[in-house]
Amino acid sequence: MITASEKTKAQQRAAEMMRKAGINIRDGVISRIEVVDFGLSQLEVEGVQVLTMVNTDRLAAKVLVLFPNQTEPEHWHPKVGDDPGKQETIRHIWGDLRFYVDGEDKMKEGFVVDGKEDVYTLRHELILQPGDQLTFEPYEKHWFQAGARGAVLYSFSTTVRDGLDGFTDPAIQRITIIKDDEK
Ligand code: ZN
Repeated sequence: MITASEKTKAQQRAAEMMRKAGINIRDGVISRIEVVDFGLSQLEVEGVQVLTMVNTDRLAAKVLVLFPNQTEPEHWHPKVGDDPGKQETIRHIWGDLRFYVDGEDKMKEGFVVDGKEDVYTLRHELILQPGDQLTFEPYEKHWFQAGARGAVLYSFSTTVRDGLDGFTDPAIQRITIIKDDEK
């Protein structure tokens, strides 16, 4: 859960970072940036900001923003009905970004969110440079984290059904609840 004013602030901050990364976005779309806390109510620690450029029944393209040291929790994209699952390519645009995938423990620069060792199981660290990209097949687990400057990246994929993604952390709810500010 986040408050309405936290949401507005995060949208503004995400928009500034996108512009710093050289991505043109009009003022009118800032309110469309999705602020996701994964139901964990600690947005700065675990969360992501997402601007969907397109999402049809076949393809999707998004800009993702991570604030400094913000982590997107470990997840995978399962098969849904006739859809074999989301195939996703991530392309790093700006900032400090590390990904965690299956493989031997190579964690050096990143960190596991405090007290959450059992729901961040992947420790194979990949440090991405702007221009680097990675492709994930359906069911391939991953999580990612920004460094000190935060990160801006593109996600190109087949149709997105975020509500159906699988997460290692059972406490996660993909749909963020926005609460009115206290009067
Ligand atoms: Zn993903």
